[in-house]
Amino acid sequence: MPRLRLGPSLWLDRRTQAPSFPSLRHDVRVEVAIVGGGLTGAAIAWRFAKAGIPVALIERARVGRGSTAASTALLMQEPDVDLRELASRYGKAGARRVWQLSRAATRDFVRTIDQLGIECDLAARDSLYYALTPKAIEPLRIEHRLRRRAGFSGRWLSAAQLSDASGFEGAGAIRTHGNAQIDPYKACLGFTRAAVERGAQVFERTPVLARRSRLRTGNWGLGAGESVVLRTPHGSVTADRVIVATGYATERFKPLAGRFRMLHTYVVGTRRLSRAERRRLGLGAVMLWETGRPYHYARWTPDNRLLLGGGDRTRVRGRSRARAFRDGTQRITEYFVGLYPALAQIAFEYAWEGLFAMTPDGLPYIGAHRRYPRHLFALGYGGNGMTFGFLASRLLLDWYRGKRSADHDLFAFNRLR
Ligand SMILES: Cc1cc2nc3c(=O)[nH]c(=O)nc-3n(C[C@H](O)[C@H](O)[C@H](O)COP(=O)(O)OP(=O)(O)OC[C@H]3O[C@@H](n4cnc5c(N)ncnc54)[C@H](O)[C@@H]3O)c2cc1C
Repeated sequence: MPRLRLGPSLWLDRRTQAPSFPSLRHDVRVEVAIVGGGLTGAAIAWRFAKAGIPVALIERARVGRGSTAASTALLMQEPDVDLRELASRYGKAGARRVWQLSRAATRDFVRTIDQLGIECDLAARDSLYYALTPKAIEPLRIEHRLRRRAGFSGRWLSAAQLSDASGFEGAGAIRTHGNAQIDPYKACLGFTRAAVERGAQVFERTPVLARRSRLRTGNWGLGAGESVVLRTPHGSVTADRVIVATGYATERFKPLAGRFRMLHTYVVGTRRLSRAERRRLGLGAVMLWETGRPYHYARWTPDNRLLLGGGDRTRVRGRSRARAFRDGTQRITEYFVGLYPALAQIAFEYAWEGLFAMTPDGLPYIGAHRRYPRHLFALGYGGNGMTFGFLASRLLLDWYRGKRSADHDLFAFNRLR
């Protein structure tokens, strides 16, 4: 399996008290086994355990240290796919529903972090979705009008208002209230702890090596068996249902691989900036992302570093990955120095890269696949993995309890052929 991250992530560098979970050394029987201990798996484990369902979370390496530790963790109500683009694929009602679910998931996520008392530097932040050039402004105006008509608030910012809020010269922006930012690693550990407190079993350093279905007769097969047995190096997990939350289809689900496009994305982080330096840059307490694709984005950290990211590119293999990493981080730096010339004088202390999976329509797969009885999946989030991963935890619990709705169809595998 390829490495999910390259380079030192800021979040892992912060001496967060990381609990250590045991590796599996015996056989266990649970109702639901969750494979993948990133934020998605942790949220699912918490939600199922809270509902009184016996679960085991199984992580190949360490909890939260995959893509979750690479994330810049902007919790956005707005999916990366514009409402306009989604509407052209799925109609106005379908697009509006996806956006409503994304907004509700962000609010639910923020409220839950608060209620559980998870310390993860949660901070409410408006986002600015900006157009840099006059050519990009008209499509953004249309997007703004569509959003308003569909019931999504968002204030239009003129070029002057954008400049006041961001400190750079652009053509205009949509300002959205109600978004947030977190430390994704701390959040993941927080949900894992909350799951354990509610009875979940968590196993780290426990790769799932193989799956078999156990049929009613006691025979083995890969049909719609009574239960699924996951084999790990020193024990097995038998479960009625397996939830696959590995970020994307791993080697165990080869037939699904063609459904994802793997991309690299890059992040750089400055040293801590003084108040005077921040004033000179002119970027207020907002999160930025642009209308261009692949997009660039920026946010502050609680200790006044600027995190700059984006520049996604198609996956490269072998040694080319390290070269692409250098080029990718350099291009991000150049882009932002273009917006903020003062950044040219400021040292960058962090640079990292993450691998992520994109689906053809930019929406995740959440739900069952006919090829894999007794499995549920939560995979392929693009740049909205925090929000959609949390949404997956709710949709999958509903599914498991037999409460299927039209919302599930929006993320079903069969929406795309
Ligand atoms: C650089 C970057 C920036 C991002 N920024 C944002 C952002 O601002 N906002 C946002 O919403 N999203 C963002 N994302 C996306 C988001 O971070 C991810 O989608 C999200 O963290 C995915 O979480 P996950 O739990 O699904 O996957 P991961 O965190 O990757 O967890 C999957 C886990 O599965 C484990 N695993 C795999 N195979 C096995 C196996 N066989 N057995 C056991 N365990 C296994 C892996 O070890 C891994 O820990 C970003 C992503 C990157 C890379």
